[in-house]
Amino acid sequence: MTAPKYRKKIVAGNWKMNTSVNDALELVKGLKIDLSVHNDCDVVICPPFTGLHAVGDAVTSTSIKLGAQNMHWEANGAYTGEVSAAMLRDLYCRYVILGHSERRAYFGETSEIVNKKAKAAIAATLVPIVCVGETLEERESGRMRDVVRDHLEGSLADLGDDLKKVVVAYEPVWAIGTGKTASPDQAQEVHAYIRENLEKIGGKEAAETIRIQYGGSVKPNNAAELFGQPDIDGGLIGGAALEARSFIEIVRAAQ
Ligand code: PEP
Repeated sequence: MTAPKYRKKIVAGNWKMNTSVNDALELVKGLKIDLSVHNDCDVVICPPFTGLHAVGDAVTSTSIKLGAQNMHWEANGAYTGEVSAAMLRDLYCRYVILGHSERRAYFGETSEIVNKKAKAAIAATLVPIVCVGETLEERESGRMRDVVRDHLEGSLADLGDDLKKVVVAYEPVWAIGTGKTASPDQAQEVHAYIRENLEKIGGKEAAETIRIQYGGSVKPNNAAELFGQPDIDGGLIGGAALEARSFIEIVRAAQ
C-alpha cells in the first residue's frame, strides 16, 4: 500500500470589502507577531485591492503570502474598473481568489468566467483559489453533488497539467458568514467527493496533489477538527480573518 500523499496545509484570509489601508496595516502588525516565520502551513492574506500595495510591503521578508480577491482575465485594455493578473503580480501577489460565492451571486460570475480567470492567473504565475459550493436550497433539494461537480468541471476545464497548480476551496454558501459550519463529517464527505471529481477531470496525481480548503464560519474553536479530516487541507477564512488573534489560532490549528 502506498502512503497517502502529503499536502501542505494552506490557510487564507479573505478580508472582503473591509479595512482602510491603516486598518489593514494594523491587522498585519498583529499577524506578524506570530506568523512572520516558520509556518508548517502556507499562510495567505487577501486584502481589498486598495490595501495590496501597503500590505505587500508590510509582509516582505515574512512567510505570509499576499493574495487578491478577484481579477480580470484579460492582460490589459479598455476594461474600466478591472485589474489584471499581471497588475497583481506587479504588487507581489502570489494567489488570487476566484469564483467566490459572493461574486457568483452578486456579480454574475459563472464557471465559464472563472475558468478564463483561472487560465489567465496561472499564465501569470498566480495560484488561483477556485471556490465551489452549494446554497442551502440546492443542498436541501438534493442537488449539492450536481452543483459542486458543475462548478468544478466548468471552472477547471481544459487546464491540462496546470490543474495541479490550483487550490480548490469548498465553501457551502449556507455556512458563509452565518455562524453555521458544516460538521467535520459533512465537510469531509464533500471534500472526498471533490477529490473524486478532480481525478475524473485531471487524473489521480492531480487529485492527490491539489489542496482543498474548507470555508464557511471557520473559527478557532472548530478549525482543528475540520483541518484534521483526511481531505481537508486548510481553510479559507472570512470573518475570523479580520481579527489577528483568531486568524493566528486558526493557522495554528492547521499545523
Ligand atoms: C468566505 O467568505 O470565504 C468565508 C468563508 O467567510 P466566513 O469565514 O465569514 O464564513
